[in-house]
This record gives sequence, structure tokens and C-alpha cells, in this order.
Amino acid sequence: MLRIGIDLGGTKIAAGLVDENRVLGPSIQEPTGLPRPAGELAEAIYHLAYRLLKEQGLTFQDVESVGIGIPGTVNKETDCIEYANNFVFENVPFLKMLKELFPCPVYGENDAKAAAWGEYLAGAGRGSRSMTAVTLGTGVGGGIILNGKILEGHNGAAGELGHMVIHQNGRPCTCGRRGCLEAYASATALVSRAKEAMEHCETSMLWNLCGRNLSEVNGRIIFEASKKGDPTACEVLDSFTEDLSDGIANIINILQPEVLCIGGGLSGAGEALLAPVREKTAPKIYSRASEKNTRIVLAELGNGAGIIGAACLNEQMSKN
Ligand SMILES: [Zn+2]
Repeated sequence: MLRIGIDLGGTKIAAGLVDENRVLGPSIQEPTGLPRPAGELAEAIYHLAYRLLKEQGLTFQDVESVGIGIPGTVNKETDCIEYANNFVFENVPFLKMLKELFPCPVYGENDAKAAAWGEYLAGAGRGSRSMTAVTLGTGVGGGIILNGKILEGHNGAAGELGHMVIHQNGRPCTCGRRGCLEAYASATALVSRAKEAMEHCETSMLWNLCGRNLSEVNGRIIFEASKKGDPTACEVLDSFTEDLSDGIANIINILQPEVLCIGGGLSGAGEALLAPVREKTAPKIYSRASEKNTRIVLAELGNGAGIIGAACLNEQMSKN
């Protein structure tokens, strides 16, 4: 039977149909339109799901459940969003509102955990028992799947992999601490690091690639300049992957997952990112002499992971 997956983001809401084989079918999206009161946002999500079904000639009777990935801390006992930075939600009973609107079961999860669940079931983690996802985007997101279940922690806030400190007294992080992995290894951090390096090197190829406009610097051109041998880009990527590998080695040493999956916008760089990360992580792994070591791979589902994972949240619940 079909399930609806909803990926609620700060800029857009995406809804898609996912079948029993965890394959994503038709999907639609609309702007989130923040700032917006929680009740109105819940109704917009309901109407988007309704429209998705209607366009396919379906109704809620054709749907088993609805799952939603939310960028915040989801308390499944109270159906509240304890904290969601983008939405200015603090202890808002958002899941409760959604449950009252939809005529079928509604499951909610933090968006990074939902996307990790999608990759685990239908993407890079398919067939494994444990997987950790590290997502390199605006921040560094994470999701930990152990023995077929999402690791929640006793309050639902486990898996904030981006907020492990890798440089004491280092760069300030959005969480209020200094030196977090997120401050060094997010896509945003990579761009800031490249801009800083460019200011010290007027001859860098990056200046041409961004049309001499610093606001045009992005991950893609940094990888492009590095591929062409630009020393500034190469140095930036070298220290970026060194920092990322510290974070990844820490994760592996603690959890020893079967698969560690790197996702987010930067994973589009493919081998240019994966090869140096693998090479720099290997010597830092405590179990490096073991026959069984974590496979470090790229995410496979792209933006679909969030919708697929949200839709498949009913499978996680059935395992509890
Ligand atoms: Zn932090």
C-alpha cells in the first residue's frame, strides 16, 4: 500500500508517494512561506498531501500512513516539536495538530534522522544492519541507525554528529560552542574557508571561477579549481577533508557502523570528496587491523532520501 512522505524544510515543503518497495513515485512541492503559525503550517501540509493524492486520482483511503521529517527536535511521547530553530517553534504540539487533520496514522521524525532512515532502507545502507549518515549541507546533520532502529536518545535528540568538537577553542559554531565539526566540515564552512584563503591569494583560479564575486563561491567551483590543480583550492580541500575525516573517525570509533554514508550537497563531488576522506580516515580508525571495517560510501537517494525515509517511518514503528 502507498505511503505519503513529507519533507518539511525552511524554504519548501515536499510531499511524495512511496510504494511498498520503498520506491518514490510522484511528488509535489510548495514554498514553506515562513514565518507562519504552526496551525496554518499543519493545514498547508495537509492540503499539499491532499493535492498530491488528487492529482493521481487517489484519496486518503489509498494510503497506509503519512510520515513527516521536521527540522527540529521531535518528542514522540507528547507529539510536540521541542525546538525548531527555523520555525521559531518551542514546545509546539505540531504532530498533534497533524494527527488531528489526517484520517490515517501520522509519524514524525527529525528531518536528518528521517533522511538517514531512507538511505538505510532504500539507498546506501540497503541490506546492512547499522548505518550512520553524515550530511554536509548548511550544517552537518546526522542520523544513526543501529540494529534496524533509529537511535533516538532518551529525549529524541541523539545523533547531533555535527556538534562534536574537533578543534578546542576553534571556530564559533551556531550551537554556541567552538570548534564543532559543523563549523569546519559543512558545505557552508567549506565556502567560508575558501573565501578566507582567496583573500590571501589574488592569483587563485577561484577568483576567475567566481567572476571575482566572493558571493558566487560554492562547493562546485572549489572542487573544479582543485581538479585543475589550483594550489589554494587544493589546500582548502586538503584541510577540509582532514577535519571531516577526524569527525568520521570519531564516529566510527564510537559506533563501528557497517556503513557510513556521506550525503548532502557536497556529496555531489563524488570520488573527489570520497577518496581523500577514505584515505585520511583509515589511519585514524582504532580497529584498522580488523578484517571487518566500516564502508564509507556516498548517499544514493539525493533529495529523495527525506521523503522516502519519512514515508517509511511506519516501518520503524512496527519494529518497536
Ligand atoms: Zn556546534
